Amino acid sequence: MKNEKKNNISLSDEDLLRYNKHILLDEIGIDGIELLNTKHIAIIGLGGIGCPLAQYLSTSGIGTITLIDSDIIEETNLQRQVLYTGLDIGKYKVDIASTKIKKMNPKLNVFTSKLRFCKDTSKIIRNVDMVIDATDNFSTRTAINAATIKYKKPLIMGAAIEMQGQISVFRNDHKDMPCYNCLYSDIEDQATSCMNQGVLSSLTGAVGSILATEAIKVLLSMSETLESKLLLIDFKNMIFRNIKIVKDKKCCVCNEL
Ligand SMILES: [Zn+2]
Repeated sequence: MKNEKKNNISLSDEDLLRYNKHILLDEIGIDGIELLNTKHIAIIGLGGIGCPLAQYLSTSGIGTITLIDSDIIEETNLQRQVLYTGLDIGKYKVDIASTKIKKMNPKLNVFTSKLRFCKDTSKIIRNVDMVIDATDNFSTRTAINAATIKYKKPLIMGAAIEMQGQISVFRNDHKDMPCYNCLYSDIEDQATSCMNQGVLSSLTGAVGSILATEAIKVLLSMSETLESKLLLIDFKNMIFRNIKIVKDKKCCVCNEL
């Protein structure tokens, strides 16, 4: 696949070198890099998961990334939010993250929003190709799920708490697929954030890395993604487990459309 369009390549010599190791992969190749260059992804949440996620996507040839986070950097973030240093404390995460990933890949287009993602601000995702949820609270997750169904965008979701992680791909751009609410509608009472709980820094890195992997696979239509599946990661016992997510016919979010 990667040699078929050699006479039609839009990549510069610099790009061919920069993305050489991806071009050598049969699963990506030159065609894949050219396709990624046309894509626009929204990353919501620039914390422990969002930082490595933004790094890997920015260096992988994605054309445009919109970073959405209303938080400022605090000392307690530095253990796992690897884009920030002590010099960044008190500054907005999206400002520092956008500067850092632009330095990593100067051709990347980066937009930022410091507005908290909710129903009223959700139209920011209407023109993107994919949304990645790297937030840490239930109410924002449900707002992201509803917005991606409304605007028909694929949603990739990752979470990490203590030594356990979860990753899933929700094809909210397709009809008759399970959504986040199909999975979690019955546990609203457990709506917690990691604010008062510990989290292993390397786990957030692993979840961010898997999210970046799934994003590229979905954008390039590779098979065997986590579509309608939930990957459960247990770092304490180093166990990875996949469970299938089934559409809830009574789900009040995805069945309304
Ligand atoms: Zn649903």
